[in-house]
Amino acid sequence: MEKILRCPNCGAAFEYSADRQMLHCRQCGTDMTVDAYRQYEQTQSAAPDEGTAREAGPEYREQTEKQRGQMNMKIYHCSSCGAQLETDPDTVATRCAYCGNPTLIEDRIEGRYRPDLIIPFAISKEKAMEAYEKWTGKGPLTPRELRAATVTERMTGIYIPFWLFDYHAEGRVTANATRTRVVPRGDGEDIYTDYFLAVRELGADFKGIPADASEKQDDAVMDKLEPFNMQGVREFAPEYLSGYLAQRYDRTAEEVGGRAQTRAKNYILSMAMGTIAGYSSVVPLDQNVQLSPLSRRYALFPVWMMNCTYRGKPFTFVMNGQTGRIVADRPVSGSRAAGIGAAVFAASFAALMLGGLLL
Ligand SMILES: [Zn+2]
Ligand SMILES: [Zn+2]
Repeated sequence: MEKILRCPNCGAAFEYSADRQMLHCRQCGTDMTVDAYRQYEQTQSAAPDEGTAREAGPEYREQTEKQRGQMNMKIYHCSSCGAQLETDPDTVATRCAYCGNPTLIEDRIEGRYRPDLIIPFAISKEKAMEAYEKWTGKGPLTPRELRAATVTERMTGIYIPFWLFDYHAEGRVTANATRTRVVPRGDGEDIYTDYFLAVRELGADFKGIPADASEKQDDAVMDKLEPFNMQGVREFAPEYLSGYLAQRYDRTAEEVGGRAQTRAKNYILSMAMGTIAGYSSVVPLDQNVQLSPLSRRYALFPVWMMNCTYRGKPFTFVMNGQTGRIVADRPVSGSRAAGIGAAVFAASFAALMLGGLLL
């Protein structure tokens, strides 16, 4: 069923505002928290004159079930203007192409598709556009086409599905290590080399290692958007989606879990190796990690995206909708931008892991 959130005061569309961190009506200016709106809706649906399936006759119920059977269809009707719209089957929130009203397709976020968590947008479209303009203005070689105002119109806020994995990890590394000593003797010196077998065992809990669950999104780009600040995580409510695009997962936790496991393993190994210090040489012999999955959750993360074509090549500007981190390559000085991106990624990865690490 398609649904448009309505302002309780004037009936216009109610959208989630990143600036206010509340639902906001552009027509009359009413603000309301998500919790308050959910309470308000409950009192509304309890009213006797609302035609819910429970109270309606068998004819209505049959129709509702029929609609449910069609929930995976690509076509739906805007509940505001009635226009027939097409979406891909994984879209759970969108905007009507004709009247512009924000629409939730609620059937598609039920059951196993209902997210556990969400990070709401904290950066508004206006701020995302400002950041884009600043970014294109920075490089003297940035093509003028990319600065055009029409391009920024295409800036789209979209919730991307992620799986978050928790692991307990036990790591064990062994290495041959040497230490060289110089002992003076007479007018010369003796050089001794001591040999050690270094063994390190380390246990760590990893919390919320993310892996994007959307086939359409480039894994490397999604990884570079990290870190997301987990203090901004909220329990999922569909109201947060109003005014944005949102997609549900099309890759299961099993399909993407390998990526998160590799990250956990690499991190614990580098931590363990890092503790073998103070030697003249260290040669790793054996590295072993046991990972036990603790839990996993399904979350939606906010991303600003702008796609266009420049000289026949696709160009994408992507921004973390919570922190403002930008991932994009400058078409002209592409190689330089890629190098900077990699360095930033390495640093943010370490920060994220330390943040989630309980020793
Ligand atoms: Zn209003
Ligand atoms: Zn419409």
